[in-house]
This record gives sequence, C-alpha cells and structure tokens, in this order.
Amino acid sequence: MREIPFGKPFIDKAEQNAVKRVLENPILVHGPKSIEFEDVFSRFTNSPSAVSCSSCTAALHLAYFSKNIGKGDEVIVPALTHVATAHTVALTGAKPVFVDAEMNTGNIDIDLIEHRINENTRAISVVHFLGMPVDMGRIDKIAQKYDLLVVEDCALALGSTINGVHVGMHGDCGCFSFYPVKHITTSEGGMFISKHKDYSDKVRLQRAFCVDKHHGEGRKIPGSYDVVGIGFNYRMSEISAAIGVEQMKKLQDFLRKREFNYALMKEHLENIDEIRVFRSSHGKFRSSYYCMNIILADNLIDKREEIIGELNDNGVGTSIYYPKPVPLMSVYKNLYGFEAKDFPAANKISSSSISLPVGPHLHEEDMAYISNTLAKAIEKLS
Ligand SMILES: *Cc1c(COP(=O)(O)O)cnc(C)c1O
Repeated sequence: MREIPFGKPFIDKAEQNAVKRVLENPILVHGPKSIEFEDVFSRFTNSPSAVSCSSCTAALHLAYFSKNIGKGDEVIVPALTHVATAHTVALTGAKPVFVDAEMNTGNIDIDLIEHRINENTRAISVVHFLGMPVDMGRIDKIAQKYDLLVVEDCALALGSTINGVHVGMHGDCGCFSFYPVKHITTSEGGMFISKHKDYSDKVRLQRAFCVDKHHGEGRKIPGSYDVVGIGFNYRMSEISAAIGVEQMKKLQDFLRKREFNYALMKEHLENIDEIRVFRSSHGKFRSSYYCMNIILADNLIDKREEIIGELNDNGVGTSIYYPKPVPLMSVYKNLYGFEAKDFPAANKISSSSISLPVGPHLHEEDMAYISNTLAKAIEKLS
C-alpha cells in the first residue's frame, strides 16, 4: 500500500538553510528577504509591485479596506470558495452577496452576476477555482458597466494565466496564499499584487500601521516617524519570506509536475464511467492544477463517504473543495437564511465531488494507483 497525502509542503535543505541564515541576523521583519520575495513574485506574475502579507486573508482584507469599502456596501462573492473570500468582505462591514457556481469548472456563474448588482454594489470578487481561471474578459465588461472594483482571489491559482497574462493582473488586484498545502508555502503567508501602482502603495502602507516611513528609510532620528492613517499589522516575517524565496526557485518545476500528474490522472480516470471531471485548461485559459476534482454520478452520491473511506484506507489522501457552499455555513446561513436550493450548482459540487491530489510530491505511479483505487472502490460499492 502507498501513502499518498493530499497535500505536502515541499521543504528541503534550501529552505532550512535560508531560515537558519535569517535567524543568524538581528533583522526578523522589515528586512531584505521580504523585499527579495516581493521582487521575485512581481517578476513571476509580471506585476509592477507585490506586497507580502501575513496571509491571503490579510491581503484580501486590505484589498477592500484600502478602497474604503464598508458598511452599506455590497460585494459580489462566489458561493463556492474558501470562507476567507466572504469573511474579508464581512470584516469591513460590507455585505457579501453570494452568486452560485457553474457546473463545468466550479467558478462563479458569470451569467448570474448582473442580477445581484444594485446601487450599493462596490466590487466583484472572483476565485479561480482549483486554479482554473475565471473568464476575466467577461467579468471586466460587467465591472466597467457598473464601475466596480474587481478582486481576484488567487489563493489556488499561482501559475494560472489567461492569454499568457497571470491571474491577479486582469482585475484590479490579486491575492495569493502560501498556506502549507497551496502551490508554494511560507508556512503562513500571502501576497497582494495589482496593476495599479497607487493601489499597491496604499495597501503597503496599511499593511504596517500606516507608518509613513519604512524601517531604515529616511529616519534622521531612530524611532521617529509619523502615522498617516488607520492600518494593521499584516506583515510577513523575514523567516517566512526566506522560505518563499526558495520556494519560488522551485515553482516552475512544481507547476510542470502538477500539469503532468493531472494529465496522467485524467487519462486514467476516463475509464471510469461513473464520474465526471472538471474542465481544466483549454484554449487561452491555463490552470495551475491545484487538484483533480471528480464529480460522482447521481446514483453514487450517497456512497461518497464510503468511497472516500476506501481511498483513505488504501493510503490515498483526499479532500473536498469545499465541504459546503459558504452561504450554507452556519454563520452566513443564520445571518441571511439561505437554503441549499439557493445555490444548486455549488451545493451539487460540494455534495458530490471528491478532490484527489496531483501535487509535486507525487509521481507517475501514484496517479495510476489513485485511479485504480478509485475504480475498485466504485466497482465494490455500486
Ligand atoms: C486558502 C485560501 C484562502 C485563505 O488563504 P490564507 O493564506 O490561509 O489566509 C482564501 N481563498 C481561497 C480560495 C483559498 O483556497
């Protein structure tokens, strides 16, 4: 039997030594490593600047906060996503207005967005679900028409592009996550990018209390500075940034392995009639292949738990993206009284999908093993 974890951070001597070097120095925040990580990241995504943050949640919060979105405002949020996509809107005092998913990709159903826009709407947030880019051309048309901010949650989409342009550079900003099971990790961490320099500058200021000067920059008397607004402490430490710099060196290789594993598993899975796989990259849309989501045929949906049990018992780690649509999580359900029928597609994906691993910690034989184990489980239970 194989042991195949769903996600596993890819950390080796390079990261360990980089962290050790940071710890041998007195500078643990505000140092050269976070600047280096931001530089490498902005080069990779081809963005004019990148702002490292303590998490993707922090980056998303700053994206709204810095645009003064708050009480009385509404933001369009996909129903099928990590709860952070909605929480960061709610944290500002604004109301998340949920929109259902489309069945082919799990991305926000763009056809439904305009029905939910009113005079209070300030922004549209999109999530590139499992790395498959949302059609940003269509989102942009709607945003232009109603003069809305577009926030891209790119937490699962490092390496995803549309027409060769990295996600996060299509809307007004993009927020990335470096949580351990994402494409790269810094333990905890996030990044904000924007094609608008003034947006990044404001976020950079509010990330660190709105202190008007960076450390080491133009302080004639040590400890003297002014504070020009309300802000947070959402910085990334030098320890995390040092890990990030090393991870970026491995990113191309990670992405190649993900794509290879995904294609291979897809081929294997085509032999199983009782499942459907999501549409992945096609044409101008290029995915970062976060994982392989399979949708079970209707007659197998109530067997999902058993199928997952069989996979896990045979050493295959699985996950569910996401266990419930966000508006059906207790907090939002109780606030707004949503029911499953309000988000039929998101609910269907949540209740009938299984997420399988394709990460760079896995090899060719693992893809065959996962597919065979799944085929056997379905045969046994159907
Ligand atoms: C992981 C994730 C987040 C949260 O990222 P953190 O870095 O843990 O704050 C937000 N959105 C999506 C889509 C995610 O997958």
